[in-house]
Amino acid sequence: MFRSLHMKLVLIMLLLITSLMTIVGAFMMTSITAFYIDEFYQQMESVFGDSNPANIPFVASLRSWAEEENVPKLQEMIEAKAGDLGLNANIRNYYILDGRTGAYLAGSDGEDAFARLPVSQNLLTVRNSIAAGGSAVGDQSDIAASYMDLAIPITSGSSAYIIYIYDNRDTVTDLNGQLFVIILQALLVGLLISVLLSFLLSKTMIIPIERLTEGAERVAAGDFSSAIAVESTDEIGILTTTFNDMAEVLQDTLEAVENERNKLDTLFLHMTDGVVSFAGDGAVLTNNPAASRMLGREVAFYDYEALFGQQAPLQKVLSLQRPDFVSGELNVGERILELYLAPVSDEEGGAMAVLHDVTAQRKNDEMRKEFVANVSHELRTPLTNVRSYAETLRDDAEIPRDMVDSFLDIIISETDRMTRIVQDLLTLSRLDSGMADLRMSRFPLAVAIESVCRAVELDAQNHSHTLVRKYGSGVMLPVITGDRSRLEQVMMNVVGNAIKYTPDGGTISVDAGVTGKNVWIEVSDTGIGIPAKDRERIFDRFYRVDKARSREKGGTGLGLSIAKEIVLRHHGTISLASHDGPGCTVRIVLPIRQEEVRHEE
Ligand code: ADP
Repeated sequence: MFRSLHMKLVLIMLLLITSLMTIVGAFMMTSITAFYIDEFYQQMESVFGDSNPANIPFVASLRSWAEEENVPKLQEMIEAKAGDLGLNANIRNYYILDGRTGAYLAGSDGEDAFARLPVSQNLLTVRNSIAAGGSAVGDQSDIAASYMDLAIPITSGSSAYIIYIYDNRDTVTDLNGQLFVIILQALLVGLLISVLLSFLLSKTMIIPIERLTEGAERVAAGDFSSAIAVESTDEIGILTTTFNDMAEVLQDTLEAVENERNKLDTLFLHMTDGVVSFAGDGAVLTNNPAASRMLGREVAFYDYEALFGQQAPLQKVLSLQRPDFVSGELNVGERILELYLAPVSDEEGGAMAVLHDVTAQRKNDEMRKEFVANVSHELRTPLTNVRSYAETLRDDAEIPRDMVDSFLDIIISETDRMTRIVQDLLTLSRLDSGMADLRMSRFPLAVAIESVCRAVELDAQNHSHTLVRKYGSGVMLPVITGDRSRLEQVMMNVVGNAIKYTPDGGTISVDAGVTGKNVWIEVSDTGIGIPAKDRERIFDRFYRVDKARSREKGGTGLGLSIAKEIVLRHHGTISLASHDGPGCTVRIVLPIRQEEVRHEE
């Protein structure tokens, strides 16, 4: 309660008023007492003092009456001066004492009263002092004493008297008592005023401060909706304005920080790399969906030990200095993940894990390596053949002519093979790099299929195959958009394969039709077919079910992969259709209009 500014203000005011009144009271009371004492001695001086010439005859006649030992006359003379001496029965009295014994002789008050005075004990000193020739004794009075007095020796010849004036200070005590009551009343009024004043002050000073406090509490709770009203131009007014400015700047800064945080949150949420942050004790603080996806479990339900404890102990990561980090690799099912663990520098410590999915990259690397190995292998075989036949021809001059011719035929066919491989590789690399521009045109699909069938007809006949065109009956094939020559190359490859991999005397059927916005072409044969385990891979580069057979048939193992690339560039698909009986069916699906497909993308 006493800690509130209001109470402190009241207390200060009360203390101030009380101490002020006490000081003023004490000062006034002391002054009044001093004035009264001064007044007493001045009165005595005016009657008995040497400084006033008018007194000399009075003191002289006192002495002469003293010489005659006429105490009643002395009494009469002093009473004649009662007004000047300020004598008052209750307050100020005079006593005529024997100068030698100090005994009471006469006075304005009785002997009993004199005996009760504090000075009666002390009269010996007075007497001694007078005997020693002192003129006046006790003409000083202590301000703190309860009385004041004066002893005047009257000596003449052998007789000695003391006129003793005693004042019990009742006047000044009464006065001081009244003053004390007045001061007390003033103090009460002052206290009352100070309490009222402090309320007034609190209205002008404390209420704005309280309002400022409320505003500060609102801002601390994140409510920036209303500024605090500025009601004065004094220091509190300036403080309020400054506070409002500060709150505005704080709000702007918070908004900017919030925006940045939102951006980071969005990035965090949608980034393809997984991110998990851990507290110093290993508990998961935050993680993005990618992290859970990559690790194949809800990361939030685990801790560091369970997730990455095997890769690196948490303490090791926490002890690293930024920008150092620990990296490792993690296999989760089919996935290969690169893992980076780094400390987060904040007071509590913590760690951050970043996961990068490198499965596709590794697969590509593998494929590239396999591809290079395949290319080298495919080229080395014909090259070895060419070299060995050429060496034989060079070393043996006796080879018969027809044998030379057959060797040369082999050399020519092997170089043709190499040329085909190189050409296929070139085509593939152009398709891969996007350099092979498609020459788009609109052409009737039926015409393109027919021209392919015609081109292979002779070859089919040579193998006694029956080439059946199934599409002719009923279905009107549309005009499609595409690179005609490339699409014919695809169909040629597929029909060519059907002829190649079907033992002589088989049936090759070509069918086509329309489904929705697409056209489809199916080439079926009654040949050796493709085993289930190879069906997935026959569109891979250099993949062949039976290498020797393919080579014997002049295949490179690249035909279907080129076909696949071309069809993909046309936004179509090429696949093996499920097929009853022996042989196999290859199905190609192409959009009728390329523009529409591109728009839909
Ligand atoms: P290739 O030049 O060897 O024919 P492709 O890429 O055209 O290469 O074909 C890849 C492999 O797919 C062939 O080696 C062959 O084993 C198999 N294949 C393709 N078409 C057929 C088919 N109609 N019947 C049987 N096997 C086929």
